[in-house]
Amino acid sequence: MKVLVINCGSSSVKYQLLHTKTEKVVNKGIVERIKYFNGFMDAMVQIKNRLLTGENALKSLEEIAGIGHRVVHGGEEFSEAVIVNPNVVKRIEKYSELAPLHNPSALVGIKSCLEIFNNIPQVAVFDTAFHQTMPAKAYMYAIPYDYYRKYKVRRYGFHGTSHRFVAEKTAQILKKPLSELNLITLHLGNGASVAAIAKGKVVDTSMGFTPLEGLMMGTRSGDMDPAIVTFLIDKTGINYKTVNDILNQKSGLLGITGQSNDMRDIIELIGKKDERAILAYEMYIYRIKKYIGAYAAVLGKVDAVVFTAGIGEKMPKIKETMEKDLLELLGKNTKFMIVPTNEELLIAKDTYDVIRKMDEKQ
Ligand code: ADP
Repeated sequence: MKVLVINCGSSSVKYQLLHTKTEKVVNKGIVERIKYFNGFMDAMVQIKNRLLTGENALKSLEEIAGIGHRVVHGGEEFSEAVIVNPNVVKRIEKYSELAPLHNPSALVGIKSCLEIFNNIPQVAVFDTAFHQTMPAKAYMYAIPYDYYRKYKVRRYGFHGTSHRFVAEKTAQILKKPLSELNLITLHLGNGASVAAIAKGKVVDTSMGFTPLEGLMMGTRSGDMDPAIVTFLIDKTGINYKTVNDILNQKSGLLGITGQSNDMRDIIELIGKKDERAILAYEMYIYRIKKYIGAYAAVLGKVDAVVFTAGIGEKMPKIKETMEKDLLELLGKNTKFMIVPTNEELLIAKDTYDVIRKMDEKQ
């Protein structure tokens, strides 16, 4: 069965057509530089045309069993993938307030697909869903409770699809059920997050109310004292929107080096003995180590520490450093592994499962 996976960014749509049984990618691509919301409709038309022409062209759209959409924020309502219906669209719309940079493009992608691929069932797969098992003691912020009650200010966590994919894959590799394993998974891409997974369920994760919290990232600050925000506003006269921009787009590796957010550049700069690149790398590694230590304390026993995504997969040195430095703390039985992520494949499988269950009910 073929499933089309759609990932809408603010100005681009990535797509992959996958065979869920063979796990093979039949077709994939990206439509970029989308300027306006109605541009997404044109993008879907382009994708439809690309799927019906060229190499591996489909004979008809009927070959597509379903369309799976990556949706960043599902709030507290969605702990698993769901079939898209008008009620689900309304609920995703509600969470746009919590993910203003992400949910609106996912929504416009869903609405465009409903028009362009009208009869094909669609499924929403949420980045926050896997983390919904976190206990309140881990997801609550120690601020007045009313902000949670009224506005749902709490920690949600992101990259959930990637953490789940990697956790399931690790269980396969270790030949043990996921329900018998305690894992620490690290998604180290341009964005980065860690999850503590006890017997298949997330008990803590480093990203919070937004993806800004936690590890040091390519351009995001990660954890910091929130009083810095008010201090900078008072001291420099910049407004809160600018501060938000600085913390999300001009901090992290980029902020410290002043040159690049790309780990490949940082390594090159370190080769040239650039002091700020050396500092940025040390900070990056130190924060990873702190989180693994904290999550080891949360989990008690750790079966595996697993690295994934761009940096996690292509820089074995990070895994090796952690293995060397943390072996004594975590114990000899803890494995340190690199497991490549594949969010699109999991979205395709979730989509197929949701559609199959719906068909069985009918
Ligand atoms: P995202 O999906 O979050 O954009 P990826 O998971 O693709 O990110 O990871 C992107 C990051 O991976 C890049 O910013 C870069 O720092 C890092 N990266 C990619 N290739 C390498 C490499 N060969 N060595 C070190 N880092 C790499």
